[in-house]
Amino acid sequence: MDDADKAQIDIEHAIQHKLAQHRTLFDGPDVDLSECVECGAHISEARRKAIHNCRTCIDCQQRIEAKA
Ligand SMILES: [Zn+2]
Repeated sequence: MDDADKAQIDIEHAIQHKLAQHRTLFDGPDVDLSECVECGAHISEARRKAIHNCRTCIDCQQRIEAKA
C-alpha cells in the first residue's frame, strides 16, 4: 500500500464519518427531543413534527439563528 492508497482510505473514513453524523442529524426516530437541549423547556409535539430533529425550543432556536 502506498501513500496515495492510504490517503484514499483516510478520505473514505472521513466521508463515512460525515455520513454517520449526517444520519444522526436528519434520520432516525429517536433524535426528536421533547425538551430543549439549551434550556430544558418542553417542545410542543406540533413543533417536533414540523421540524425534524428539533432539539431546541422556539426561543432558543431564534437565539441560535440570530447568532449565526
Ligand atoms: Zn430552549
